[in-house]
Amino acid sequence: MSLIKIPLGLIGNIIKARKERFPKLLSIELSNACNSNCIMCPRADLTRKIQHMPLQILEKIIRDCQRKPLKKINLFWFGDSLTNPKLSF
Ligand code: SF4
Repeated sequence: MSLIKIPLGLIGNIIKARKERFPKLLSIELSNACNSNCIMCPRADLTRKIQHMPLQILEKIIRDCQRKPLKKINLFWFGDSLTNPKLSF
């Protein structure tokens, strides 16, 4: 029986590539509702349904991001996160 020799550099490169594939910045849209109408905001052009993120989805995102090489998390995207009635900051 012969053993396959895997160069350590190759394993290192695979691990590095996997880490690099995970985003460094995550923007979580807790809600796309908003009570404002800022002139520079493209939100008014969105055709998506206005809705709030369920807590179960947020909890899943948090679980999935554990031990990932994230640098920053934004708790908003198109909308005011504070309008989500399930959240308190
Ligand atoms: S989402 Fe933000 S930028 Fe857009 S209207 Fe609301 S407060 Fe203004």
